[in-house]
Amino acid sequence: MNVGIAKEIGTNERRVSVTPDSARQIKGAGYDVLVEAGAGAGAFIPDKAYEEAGATIVQSPSELWSGSQIVLKIQPPLQHRVLGRHEADLVAEGSILICMLRPLSHLDAVRTLARRNITSFSMDMMPRTTRAQRMDALSSMSTIAGYKAVVMAADSLPKIYPMLVTAAGTIAPSRAIVIGAGVAGLQAIASARRLGAVVEAYDVRPAVKEEVESLGATFIGPELEAKDVQDEQGYAKALSADAQRKGLELLHSRIPQADVVITTARVPGMPAPRLIPADIVKQMRPGSVIVDLAADMGGNCELTEAGQTVVKHDVTIHGPVRLAATVPVHASQMYSKNITSFLLHLTKDGKLNLDWSDDITSGTCVTRDGQIVHAKTRERAEGTPAQPAAAGTARS
Ligand code: NAD
Repeated sequence: MNVGIAKEIGTNERRVSVTPDSARQIKGAGYDVLVEAGAGAGAFIPDKAYEEAGATIVQSPSELWSGSQIVLKIQPPLQHRVLGRHEADLVAEGSILICMLRPLSHLDAVRTLARRNITSFSMDMMPRTTRAQRMDALSSMSTIAGYKAVVMAADSLPKIYPMLVTAAGTIAPSRAIVIGAGVAGLQAIASARRLGAVVEAYDVRPAVKEEVESLGATFIGPELEAKDVQDEQGYAKALSADAQRKGLELLHSRIPQADVVITTARVPGMPAPRLIPADIVKQMRPGSVIVDLAADMGGNCELTEAGQTVVKHDVTIHGPVRLAATVPVHASQMYSKNITSFLLHLTKDGKLNLDWSDDITSGTCVTRDGQIVHAKTRERAEGTPAQPAAAGTARS
């Protein structure tokens, strides 16, 4: 069985789904590995390195897609500029596609995959369980994005991050606020702290307060009693609307004191929550910087423009999409481990073994047997008229 490593074709996409080390592992598991020529070039991996790992280089994309029974990718299927065809039409009928499919944002591609009897798996739907941790590509890419957001902000800031005591006087440290203390947010906190900034963090989940503090940041949130954060059995419970309003008021009172705001708040499958209105941006100091990592989902800041850097009220607002792609070497290395672990999870005794009773296998499957099997995607696909295929989205 041939496993194909397709060259990514998204705009500014420099990552590759599988590195030579992983290609060797896939070969060792009993597959033959085909790699499209130049697939690793953006991540500085020459074709020769894949050949040394036992893979076969194929020169044309059509050869790669038609010759592979399993195709591994990062981006969802996109329109192929060279071939003038959509990747969802290129994947061989009845074969398997594994990528960050983001099915809710790519309904037309999903419809095509179902119609063509492709079994597709979406890496971004990996269950957040301990067993699936090594396959969790979203966390890998969020880790990279959280770090890069801090570096991006540092580059735009007309200040330095750390406090310095020099013969030329004392420089006060820059102040950063990180909104959303998930994987990206925690990495942003740690990175900004390492560069010497004073960091505060905000999240609707009070449970992250301890993690935030252990990284040396201050948690912004209302004083809460035990009954506000846990139920009678001791399980965590959602914050009340009143506590959320108070938290947001506190956040808004802190933002005008910040030099840098890195915002990462997301709610899966929903538009990003609007947490920084325009009038709060207006109150920020001239020269301050916002990096909005939720730009692809509409942005946490009202003034964010996805994929753009804009200056509003003397504040630089970055709305990067696909930030992980700007760090192609390490992003490829991490994604490669994730997708290879997933492929090996689907493999038994050197053969593909799809066990639909397994939560990782069934939880990530979007289409099979000619059907859309992911319930929410099916619901949207049936209720939404077909549109021209959407472009790739950001976080992957
Ligand atoms: P995410 O990208 O979906 O969201 C980022 C953060 O935004 C979250 O912390 C969320 O609480 C926060 N947020 C959402 N709405 C908000 C609002 N209105 N105001 C402020 N903050 C808001 O989250 P993620 O980074 O993918 O991870 C979420 C959680 O899952 C984390 O606790 C993470 O540690 C956990 N996780 C567990 C595993 C595992 O067990 N294998 C793997 C990955 C992540």
